[in-house]
Amino acid sequence: MEKLKYPGGKARAFTVSYDDGVTQDVRFVELLNKYGIKGTFNLNSELMRREFEWVHESGLVIKRLPPGAVLHLYDGHEVASHSLTHPYFEGKPREFILHEMGKDRENLRGLFDREVSGFAAPFDYWSPEMADAARECGFEYARISEMSLSYAPPEDLYHWRPGIFHLDEGLDSFVDGFLDTDTDLALCQIVGHSYDLDAENMWGRMEDIFRRVSAAPDVAFMTNIEIVRHLKSIGVR
Ligand SMILES: [Zn+2]
Repeated sequence: MEKLKYPGGKARAFTVSYDDGVTQDVRFVELLNKYGIKGTFNLNSELMRREFEWVHESGLVIKRLPPGAVLHLYDGHEVASHSLTHPYFEGKPREFILHEMGKDRENLRGLFDREVSGFAAPFDYWSPEMADAARECGFEYARISEMSLSYAPPEDLYHWRPGIFHLDEGLDSFVDGFLDTDTDLALCQIVGHSYDLDAENMWGRMEDIFRRVSAAPDVAFMTNIEIVRHLKSIGVR
């Protein structure tokens, strides 16, 4: 049987999924654009509106980008929901979950005037009830916070474990392995927050990764929703 491929006949796909819509996204998007890499940005519309801030353990003040600053920032990338206010969902009633997901989707669609079809879980909690709510709100997938450390495409689109968190010590070797793997429809999804690149002083390390991946001949650069729709179009999900 012929091996399944990504668009353009590519053997593998690379993507990044970054959360919270913080000020460092401006520099991060510039870096993605420089290397032709596509990402998904998971936003909390209510925290954007309030310009929510907090102090990171490094002393860095982490700030959300306000709505007026993002209208064209994410052009060419995916905007997805990360819930309205970034709550910890464990023990919360169904109505609360539906509101946090559905209202955020509605706000982001209105703000960006485009489709919003993905959800990324805030914090590390996920449940079958949340997966049902994500379906009910019209999301086509939900990316959770548990890493797979695998190159396999998602088995369950509403329990999508991404490949690796960007502060994982094994990040560089994970990317090397991705460029070398024979896994069918190999996928490397790196997740994180762009403020970590400031806090951990790792912009250069991330740029090295993007440079290497963009120079590889058989990698497709796609957003999460593009990956989901491709998997559906070839009948594997
Ligand atoms: Zn978050």
